[in-house]
Amino acid sequence: MVDLKTQYTRIKSEIDREMQEVFDSCIFIGGPKVNAFRESLEQYLGVKHVIPCANGTDALQITMMALGLKPGDEVIVPAFTYVATAEVIGLLGLTPVMTDVDPGTMNITAANIEAAITPRTKAIVPVHLFGQSADMASIMALAKKHNLFVIEDNAQAIGADYTFPAAGTTSGDGETKKTGTIGHFGCTSFFPSKNLGCYGDGGAMMTNDDALAAKARMIANHGQSKMYYHDEIGVNSRLDAMQAVILNAKLKHLDEYNAARNRAADYYDRFFGQIPQLQIPARETNSTHVFHQYTLQINTPDSVKTRDELKAFLLEKSIPCMIYYPVPLYDQPAFAPFWKDGKLPVTEALCASVFSLPMHSEMTESVLAEITGAVKAFFETR
Ligand SMILES: *Cc1c(COP(=O)(O)O)cnc(C)c1O
Repeated sequence: MVDLKTQYTRIKSEIDREMQEVFDSCIFIGGPKVNAFRESLEQYLGVKHVIPCANGTDALQITMMALGLKPGDEVIVPAFTYVATAEVIGLLGLTPVMTDVDPGTMNITAANIEAAITPRTKAIVPVHLFGQSADMASIMALAKKHNLFVIEDNAQAIGADYTFPAAGTTSGDGETKKTGTIGHFGCTSFFPSKNLGCYGDGGAMMTNDDALAAKARMIANHGQSKMYYHDEIGVNSRLDAMQAVILNAKLKHLDEYNAARNRAADYYDRFFGQIPQLQIPARETNSTHVFHQYTLQINTPDSVKTRDELKAFLLEKSIPCMIYYPVPLYDQPAFAPFWKDGKLPVTEALCASVFSLPMHSEMTESVLAEITGAVKAFFETR
């Protein structure tokens, strides 16, 4: 699904040199390399504080702790997402409230969020799924109206731009911000296959609020603001210097990587737009797309069967294909205690029809031709 090897060969000399510096310095945790990356990411995102941590799941957990969410508090999430988003909510004794998503963009919608708000609701976690921003103008307006926190799960959309409507309009362009810097907190993951991935685990929190930043930094560091003085129960979650070096080298190329993903997506779109059994991914109107995944939907009535056959057909040709995500969150045994409301129709339909094709920064015309040709050949036999 990704080609990290070719990407590495292009930046090998810089990475190898910087890695050697880490080994020579023997400063492995924190230190100048981590600080340099933190500063470059703050600058790139245009955000006041980046707080590096060990992974994206930790980032979500720590931000919820920093916001002071307490057992019994409800947190609204999409039912169609990666498990980490809701897992940390359950882990902290909070209640995940799962809502349906938009059938085209597959993102959470403001209307579904609003319908799920109760007197116990404390926060919303919009996930910028597959690489484009959820409808943040409406979500921030809802949050303001109901006095809720917003934590953006930006693990799949780093580098995407969201443009607010101009003040007092719904169409003119207002301010543009990077996803992950709009809510009270943004969270991201540097898992190797993410758009900005390291060579191990890593993550970060983003915020423009000084007090929240200080709190999150403290919680990530055993609840201490001064060595060996612990103000509250925290966790141990840090980014190491080797990962910071990789990330700093790759951050310089992130826009280039995301542009290459867009070129591949445009090629896929042109091609698959002609196949009647397929629906190409819809674009959010106010967001750019960084195509963490290129995710198609199968239109046929027996989509699950068609998808299984397509997957087997592609696999025989050594073309990978993944299903993100096959099961709604509420149908996972782990989330059964939080669910009693039947089925969410859009989430059900998506779980039964989506499939994702290879998508990364190194897609060549010949690879794209091979993949699209195989998919076309499959549907021609139907
Ligand atoms: C990858 C991912 C995470 C978790 O990140 P890790 O670094 O693997 O813990 C959270 N949310 C979403 C939407 C993700 O894609």
